[in-house]
Parts: sequence; C-alpha cells; structure tokens
Amino acid sequence: MHSFIYASRAQRVVFGPGSLGGLAAELDALGLRRALVLCTPPQRAQAERVAALLGAPRVAGIFDQAVMHVPIEIARQAREAARELGADCAVAVGGGSTIGLGKAIALDSGLPVIAVPTTYAGSEMTPIYGLTEAGVKKTGKDDRVLPRSVVYDPELSLSLPVSMSVTSGINAIAHAAEGLYSPDGNPIMDLMAQEGIRALAQALPAIHAGANGADLLQARGDALYGAWLCGTVLGSVGMALHHKLCHTLGGSFNLPHAEVHTVVLPQALAYNAAAAPQAMARIAAALGAPAAATGVFDLASSLGAPTALRDIGMRQEDLDRACDIALQTPYPNPRPLEREALRALLQNAYDGRRPQ
Ligand code: NAD
Repeated sequence: MHSFIYASRAQRVVFGPGSLGGLAAELDALGLRRALVLCTPPQRAQAERVAALLGAPRVAGIFDQAVMHVPIEIARQAREAARELGADCAVAVGGGSTIGLGKAIALDSGLPVIAVPTTYAGSEMTPIYGLTEAGVKKTGKDDRVLPRSVVYDPELSLSLPVSMSVTSGINAIAHAAEGLYSPDGNPIMDLMAQEGIRALAQALPAIHAGANGADLLQARGDALYGAWLCGTVLGSVGMALHHKLCHTLGGSFNLPHAEVHTVVLPQALAYNAAAAPQAMARIAAALGAPAAATGVFDLASSLGAPTALRDIGMRQEDLDRACDIALQTPYPNPRPLEREALRALLQNAYDGRRPQ
C-alpha cells in the first residue's frame, strides 16, 4: 500500500426522508438564531417551506436570487441583505448555485452556512468556492465556506426533473472517478468513491425508468447518498483533466455545468485509461460495466443524457481555443497533457463519439 495523508473535516450530516424536520434543531445546536434562507427564483416555494419549518423567529428573510456561477454582484446583494436583516447564518436550499451563494456570503462575512442540497452536485461537502467577476469565474479553497451542517432530505429532490437528475448524478460520479486517480488520494476516499459511483449507477436508472412511491423515494435516497460520498471525495482530494476541462468549457463558453460533466467524463476517462488502470478497474466495477469510459458513456446514453458537446451549445470553431485554454496552466493528471491527444478528446466530445 502506498503512503497517504487522511484529514477529516468537522461537519455534521443529517440524512434521510423527513430529515428537513430536524433543521431547526441543527441551527439550535450550533447556537444560530436568525437564518437568511437562500434559493434560486424557481425554488422560492421550497425555500418558503423551509422557512415555515424553521419558524418565524429563526428566519431573517429569504433571498431568492441565486444563479449559476455566483456573479459577484449577486453575492454582494446577498451579503448586504444578510447584514441589513441581522442574519447570523445562511441556510442554502438548492443545488451548487445556491450553496455557492452561501459560500460567497461566508467568505466575506464569516457567517456559517447550513446546506440543504436538492441536486447531486456535491458543493455542500467542499471548502471550494467560485465567484464570477466580469465574466471570469475564479475558484478558491477556504475552510470558512464549508457548510457546518448538511441536511440531506431525499423528499426535496423528488422535484428535480429526471433529465437534470441524470446529468447531476453523472456530475457526482465525475468527482469520484477523478478522486480514484488523484495523487493525494487515500484508501478512505477510494472506498467512498467506489460506493458513491455504485449507489448512483444503481439509482439513476430507477429514477429514469419512472419508479414511483416508496421505490422512487428509495432511489432518490440512494442517489443523494451517492452524491454525498462523491462530494466528500471532491472536497478532499485533487481533481484532474476532467474537472479542468469542464471548468474551461463551462466558464469560457457558457455551457451548462452538469451537462458538460456528463459529455466530457467518458472522453476524459478514455484519455487517462492506460495511465491509471487500477482506478479504471475500480470505476468499471462500481458501474457494473466492462470498462470505465464506455461504462459512463453507455450509462449516460441509456438514460437519455447528452453525449455530444455540439448538442449542449458548443461551437466547432471554438474547439481550438478550448484546447489552448486547457493547456495554459499545468496541473497533475495521470497522463501528461498532449496537445494533439487533447484536441482529439475535444473533437470526440464534440461529436459524441463512444470511446473505444
Ligand atoms: P444548480 O444549483 O444551478 O441548479 C440547476 C437548476 O435546478 C436551478 O434552476 C435550480 O433552482 C433547479 N433545482 C435544483 N434542485 C431542484 C429540485 N430539487 N427541484 C426542482 N428544481 C431544482 O445546479 P447544480 O448542478 O447543482 O450546481 C451547479 C453549480 O454549482 C455550478 O456553478 C458549479 O460550478 C457549482 N458547483 C460547485 C461545487 C463546489 O464544490 N464549489 C461543486 C459542484 C458544483
């Protein structure tokens, strides 16, 4: 066994159907009295339900303007609202965009964040934040932004549309897949990564197939459990080519986050396959597929998810520039970054070609 360092972070996780009912107790246990509840405009009703459950004295207000990639102007408005309303914490009800807004408030003010995730993106388990200023998204790491407590209630994810559930779930699988070949990986993260992939690979087909009643709640719970594990991997070990490419494509060409991850993951795994055989074997086993790259591609296409960049807004004429940006800053990756091979990867992703 290779040498490793394992560090755990102080965070509470409250999990299960109906666990939202315990949110007020979470705030009380942390000594928090007045929450600013955050959401996107379409999730206002969910945020209002959360506010009602918290009870009026514990709610400073609802800020419903969270949007993708945390524009600095929205972050400033939210910080100002928190200050004016006398909030002592932020309760983020939503996916990565809303939790990202909570993190932006925490970064500046130190206000603790309590996360109530409703997608599988995993931001709630990471100290990573992102802020977009003048069209450029910058990311950083700061322990102050890590949510103190995370309440995972699968009932809240029942309303996540099936197509978004699939791409969000594959976004989560991407964290675990790259965690398995991370140079700072460790055996605990490997266990979490494999179990996270397994749980999502089993749950997503059931959600897609239209499971209902208790079966659907079970599948939603399994998917959220997988998302928790995969998010923990993202927050604990370094990511590589796949995440860098998605950051470039999402940030520079304004492509939708979870869809980009879904399209690029099989191609990135194919690129790294020969350089990380052990990780690939683990990913394949967790997927229940013969190989990692084709396993992810087949999972996505069997669930009706996009497999081609051209279908999610990328333009052929931008592929060269995407390749240049991806090569600008070096970072660790199992296989060295080779221009020609990377350009071929992008072409395959653009065309939606099944990896060999
Ligand atoms: P999102 O938060 O943007 O949500 C997408 C849409 O789905 C929104 O309109 C949202 O309101 C809606 N939605 C979410 N949950 C719903 C539900 N249960 N029912 C109905 N509608 C629902 O999408 P996301 O993929 O979760 O997050 C993407 C963002 O998060 C990106 O900006 C990405 O960079 C960031 N992210 C950050 C980290 C991190 O560690 N910092 C990790 C993952 C993602």
